[in-house]
Amino acid sequence: MICFCPCLECSKNMHALVASGNWRLYKLSYNEELIYEFTCDHGHENLIVVQKEKFEVLFQIASLAYLDGYFREAVVTFTSALERFYEFFIQVMYVESGRDEAQFLEAWKSVKSSSERQIGAYALIHALTLGSPAQILSSAQVSFRNKVVHQGHIPSDQEAYSYGNSILILMRDKLTFLREKYNISFDKVVSKKADLTRVVQKYQRIPASLSDDTIIGCGSYPIAPESLRAGLDMLQSYRAFAQRAPLKGVRHT
Ligand SMILES: [Zn+2]
Repeated sequence: MICFCPCLECSKNMHALVASGNWRLYKLSYNEELIYEFTCDHGHENLIVVQKEKFEVLFQIASLAYLDGYFREAVVTFTSALERFYEFFIQVMYVESGRDEAQFLEAWKSVKSSSERQIGAYALIHALTLGSPAQILSSAQVSFRNKVVHQGHIPSDQEAYSYGNSILILMRDKLTFLREKYNISFDKVVSKKADLTRVVQKYQRIPASLSDDTIIGCGSYPIAPESLRAGLDMLQSYRAFAQRAPLKGVRHT
């Protein structure tokens, strides 16, 4: 799955490069660290960190898979996005309670290897802190997901869309609520991802930050579109725009 990235040094002269036909976007595969290192055609060395939460990136990958007709892969990855969103929610509520990240990470160890435990933790912490039952997937949606993941079911376009749209709405509503009601804790968790110290230590230089547009964006207003269809339309437009610029693939090692 790919995102499109400009050379940040070349971006300073974008208009001139577009006019001369030398503007280029670099096609990058999403990776676990969201750190991209490449040299542009003009010799500029780029070290770029994409500032995104894991669930934002996973939802984007699932949406790209859906657009390309990989409905089974889309369902699996929509599920992963939701699970990482549960983790994000719990982390925000942890910070809100006055505990720090180290305490959260220690507690998370006991549920980290089991998605069922994570859903349980999400439901209980939601009920405890907000005083209302958490909205989670319906039994029918869980059965459908299990059929896809464990029985090799190949979902239809409509099945994959409906499942992804339900997850988008669930996440959008809760994220909007979190950002409005617990904005300081919400920002603390998000800005933790912007801590570039670890990147500087590893690469021995200061990276540039890039906030790639994604369908779900913690820093966007609104945080997500009304429906998955609206998000897919935006994604298609972005792809069409990116593909009008000459592209160069970058292979990561
Ligand atoms: Zn360049």
